[in-house]
Amino acid sequence: MNSNPSHGFGTRAIHAGQQPDPSTGAICTPIYQTSTFVQKSPGVIVEEYDYSRAANPTRKAFEDNIASLEGARHGLAFSSGVAATGVVIHLLSAGDHVVLCDDVYGGTNRIFHRVFQQMGIEITLVDMTDLDATRAAFRPNTKLAWIETPTNPMLKVVDIAAVAAIAKERGAITAVDNTFASPYLQNPLSLGADIVCHSTTKYIGGHSDAIGGVLVTNDDDLFKRMKFIQLSEGAVPGIQECFLFLRSTKTLHVRMDRHCQNAMAIARHLEQHPKVDKVIYPGLESHPQHAIAKKQMRGFGGMITIYLKGGLDESRKMLEKVRIFALAESLGGVESLIEHPAIMTHASVPAEQRAKLGIADNLVRLSVGIEDVQDLIADLDQALG
Ligand SMILES: *Cc1c(COP(=O)(O)O)cnc(C)c1O
Repeated sequence: MNSNPSHGFGTRAIHAGQQPDPSTGAICTPIYQTSTFVQKSPGVIVEEYDYSRAANPTRKAFEDNIASLEGARHGLAFSSGVAATGVVIHLLSAGDHVVLCDDVYGGTNRIFHRVFQQMGIEITLVDMTDLDATRAAFRPNTKLAWIETPTNPMLKVVDIAAVAAIAKERGAITAVDNTFASPYLQNPLSLGADIVCHSTTKYIGGHSDAIGGVLVTNDDDLFKRMKFIQLSEGAVPGIQECFLFLRSTKTLHVRMDRHCQNAMAIARHLEQHPKVDKVIYPGLESHPQHAIAKKQMRGFGGMITIYLKGGLDESRKMLEKVRIFALAESLGGVESLIEHPAIMTHASVPAEQRAKLGIADNLVRLSVGIEDVQDLIADLDQALG
């Protein structure tokens, strides 16, 4: 029943890390809702379990499952995506420098600049689609390159192999936030990255009902250090969440296929729409990094960003009129969401940086769900109408 690395993605999604419960035969890994584990004799523990902050069988099944999906040896689960991000930054010491992708998730920007910078971590923001600028951003004390691709909300695609090669040459490790692509569409470790981070709140969970994060790596030393930080800081997920994520990964490949199909159809439709000025979607030939997306991704995901013709009034009108798309932050769930980055998800990004990135008042972000695509298109048409 268990799976091995040579199995396809769908088989690993359903089986990796799991086997029928040895005591009952239950096909689903039980929710081991326990804080502690009985010892046979002082220090003689069953498998690796003594206390659930350190390790728990339900969490272990999820960690092994997600590691398998990313082609990694090791996985670690956390209480949120930003908790996972913080653990990577805790690998650094005061005086170390980070090269940070300029269009990162707002919470990533916040933890780097407002929590760790004041503890002595130095940061340079750079547009990582510009490899010369990226190369120039490295310093002798650079220890980490943090990539996010596709980025949020501009959906810039960063060449992971190229940036990881530059970092390696300079003696820095590379971490990739792979949340937007999911392990089904992109595996950064195979492109030279050292660590992959996910907010499992998004596509991995997929049902908008749980908050979580993971880190995976093939590096035994990095794994040991991150596991130690996980144990020491204790930002571990609840056991019920681990069960929900493990349930969700079983359908990740099926959901992602539909997200990609729906998003491609909607992107093509909106590209022709008279009320839409511009569509940004990595699957469109018009996307500036379409060639890189084709090279490093197996599909282009469910996120679309559009510029409407007009300004804030036109955006507001559309966002108030949608009926199937829900006006909400977050992304990656089965239900379609729509939002206004300048007012909602990216309000905390300084106006100057927003303007530089292109986050204007006529910019709208769509998280395309897995409903019937003709209904989604009809909804957007009536809202734009
Ligand atoms: C949501 C998100 C995060 C943060 O994850 P939480 O689970 O909300 O803490 C990090 N990166 C990206 C790209 C995200 O979309």
